[in-house]
Amino acid sequence: MAIDFTFPPEVDAARLRVREFLHETVKPAFKLMRENEDASRKDWSALIKRLRSEAKASGNWLPHMPADVGGMGLGVTALAAVAAEAAKVPYGPYIINGHAPDEGNMHTLHHFATELQREKYLQPLLDGEVRSCFSMTEPDVAGSDPTLIQTTAVEQGDNWVINGHKWFTSGARGADFAIVIARTDPDATIPQARNSAFIVDCDSQGFEIIRDVETMSGSHNHCEIRYNDVIVPKENLLGERGGGHKLGQVRLGPARLAHCMRWIGEIETALEMLVDRAQNRFSHGSLLSEKQGIQWMMSDSAMELYAAKLMVLHAAYKIENGMEFKQEVSMAKHHVANTLWRVCDRAVQVHGALGYSTDSPLSGMLQQARWARLADGSDEVHQMRIAEILMRTYKEQGEIGPAIGGLPL
Ligand SMILES: Cc1cc2nc3c(=O)[nH]c(=O)nc-3n(C[C@H](O)[C@H](O)[C@H](O)COP(=O)(O)OP(=O)(O)OC[C@H]3O[C@@H](n4cnc5c(N)ncnc54)[C@H](O)[C@@H]3O)c2cc1C
Repeated sequence: MAIDFTFPPEVDAARLRVREFLHETVKPAFKLMRENEDASRKDWSALIKRLRSEAKASGNWLPHMPADVGGMGLGVTALAAVAAEAAKVPYGPYIINGHAPDEGNMHTLHHFATELQREKYLQPLLDGEVRSCFSMTEPDVAGSDPTLIQTTAVEQGDNWVINGHKWFTSGARGADFAIVIARTDPDATIPQARNSAFIVDCDSQGFEIIRDVETMSGSHNHCEIRYNDVIVPKENLLGERGGGHKLGQVRLGPARLAHCMRWIGEIETALEMLVDRAQNRFSHGSLLSEKQGIQWMMSDSAMELYAAKLMVLHAAYKIENGMEFKQEVSMAKHHVANTLWRVCDRAVQVHGALGYSTDSPLSGMLQQARWARLADGSDEVHQMRIAEILMRTYKEQGEIGPAIGGLPL
């Protein structure tokens, strides 16, 4: 039997080391700061900076990157364990420099950047000295279909000139640079070859942040941006001309899965809160945990979380072993995002008014969970892709097994 669901000791050791650092250093430091009513924004920034330095010094840094660039060198499967652990502590992924969108951007730059781009843009990100953002979605066309992108980049001498309108560029305010997807080749025969990617310095003339778009959970630096004749030197083309779609796919596969890994940590936190509350709240003659309706919520959540973990691990295994992973990542992304939404909702339900209040983190978790079902490929777009691959596989191979994980059963 070749199937082994255990991690090698060094992976488990890395997971436990990150866990210990976050629970024993980061959490108490945050608690202390929260208790200090006089703490200013500046104090919080200083604390986060110090904790990030400690994370770096203790090797709890860049869980998603290879060791030769200063990362933990875990591989995608082992990363799942560490990323899920980090997400159980607020700001955990940021403290260990493994948060979105920087983590996806580092991955992209590591794959596609030239030597010059690596030195100028990747290295400071790896060092945690700067932040970045990814600017693809536009308010005027469906983000689900990047072939519709209207932002243009036109060659002018040694430069490209970018004009366009983007929104939901997460983390743009305070970022040093953006990876921008723009149309360079409107007449390309395949629509997927119309767009290219560029690295744009956020202090460039014409890079105009219009507003931080207010969401159902408040403002989180998801910016609306206008690119007004932004001049970008030719050496800032990222990847090949017309390769914007390809770059997006390389970026989004593992980045989508990285979101799933962090969501697993959040699902587990919500379910633990549900179980804890149910075992301590008394109503109509017994504890909530003794009522079958509540037990069903627990067991449904546990089964969905278990399936989520298996799906993420299997998709990670496929990426790590150079196998085709699109179908498994789509399935995992859809399942984990929906599990996150349902489990947070059930946890709010079991907490009653407390769950709805901001005294509990659950209300914020539920609001945040909502975007998981529509960003990084909406539910329906993943379902469409899953069905396409399913039908194609059946047509070409006369069976569906290879489109359902290719598992030997
Ligand atoms: C919190 C958050 C952070 C984000 N961060 C970033 C970021 O950093 N950078 C960035 O570029 N973008 C970002 N986005 C944008 C995100 O990638 C888009 O919202 C997503 O791609 C969907 O595009 P859209 O919003 O234009 O929806 P649309 O494409 O208009 O789709 C709306 C709905 O239509 C339905 N739909 C669309 N296509 C189909 C189909 N083929 N079949 C059936 N139904 C369909 C789905 O229900 C979908 O939810 C972020 C979004 C959110 C909410």
